[in-house]
Amino acid sequence: NRRIVLARRPVGAPVASDMRLEEVALPAIGDGQLLLKTLFLSLDPYMRGRMSEDRSYSPPIALGDPIVGRTISRVAESRNRDYAVGDVVMANSGWQTHFVSDGTALRKLDMQHPSLALGVLGSAGFAAYIGLLEIGKPKPGETVAVAAATGGVGATVVQLARLRGAHTIAIAGGADKVAYARDVLRADVALDHRAPDFAAQLKAAAPNGIDVYFENVGGDVLHAVVPLLNDRARIPICGVIAWYNLTEAPAGPDFSPSLVRTILRRRALMEGFVVSDWLHKQEQFFADMTKWIDDGAIVYREHVVDGFENAPAAFIGLLDGKNFGKVVVKVAD
Ligand code: NDP
Repeated sequence: NRRIVLARRPVGAPVASDMRLEEVALPAIGDGQLLLKTLFLSLDPYMRGRMSEDRSYSPPIALGDPIVGRTISRVAESRNRDYAVGDVVMANSGWQTHFVSDGTALRKLDMQHPSLALGVLGSAGFAAYIGLLEIGKPKPGETVAVAAATGGVGATVVQLARLRGAHTIAIAGGADKVAYARDVLRADVALDHRAPDFAAQLKAAAPNGIDVYFENVGGDVLHAVVPLLNDRARIPICGVIAWYNLTEAPAGPDFSPSLVRTILRRRALMEGFVVSDWLHKQEQFFADMTKWIDDGAIVYREHVVDGFENAPAAFIGLLDGKNFGKVVVKVAD
């Protein structure tokens, strides 16, 4: 069994030596247990938070423990009557090639393309669905803005906003991602947040202001959005990846007074959400999203990294915008 453990808590952006690849003996399974072999490992920005000691909505990873993560796994041995050898399941094996499970917290998958259960049909798509449709609630003709617009969550937000008839502004990093957001995801406008005049471009793209800002990133994008918010704007807070590696308050003037005053004056709603609180909507999500994918209404893009040992570099790249689509590591066939 190969596993990647947390060797050291990262300070700022994680570096390769914060993680360590180890080889350990394969455990024998007991009664009721299963041996799972990892096929795909999901890499997600929340893992950065779990590497730190700070309190978040889940506990930190202990030093020396495998990094947490969702996997798509195949049952390699079974002493559990609910699972047979060969079954494909979604599991929480973490960053390891094998995992002994007691059969709880698994979901059997019967899909042509099971890695989608980590992306557009998994937490990423579900976050887009809940954040946009349950909190953002865009109406036809309203303006929706979203950054990290070609990523796992953002690409689905763009397409759902467009399906709801909103004027959709996609924000992404670099010319290739901007072109993809415009031409494939079919955003009404696509902008590069790295452009020096990004704030002016955003203002020009939102002549009627912004009604829904789906927050994936924080940082400079949020700064540019706040002056454009309309009365009764809704801001679902899904993530703030621009700030995950912060070690001290960002340089420059304190932005919080202008943010909070705008929320007050505009009677705006900012609401943080975590998909695990919305499990009662999961079946509906799965049915809706499967239909939209089958109809071609929603397209998806995976960023597949080949080889378990490449997970640390891919994770570091994900926090820095090097990915183009939902990141999954292909661990085995
Ligand atoms: P993505 O596939 O979107 O990858 C992250 C992207 O963030 C990068 O590709 C980059 O895109 C963008 N980014 C990184 N740094 C910055 C920055 N400083 N300014 C602007 N953009 C930046 O990841 P996910 O789709 O997995 O996650 C998106 C967000 O959703 C994250 O914040 C994540 O934590 C959150 N999330 C929350 C969930 C919840 O339940 N609340 C569930 C799942 C995800 P680009 O190159 O285009 O800038």
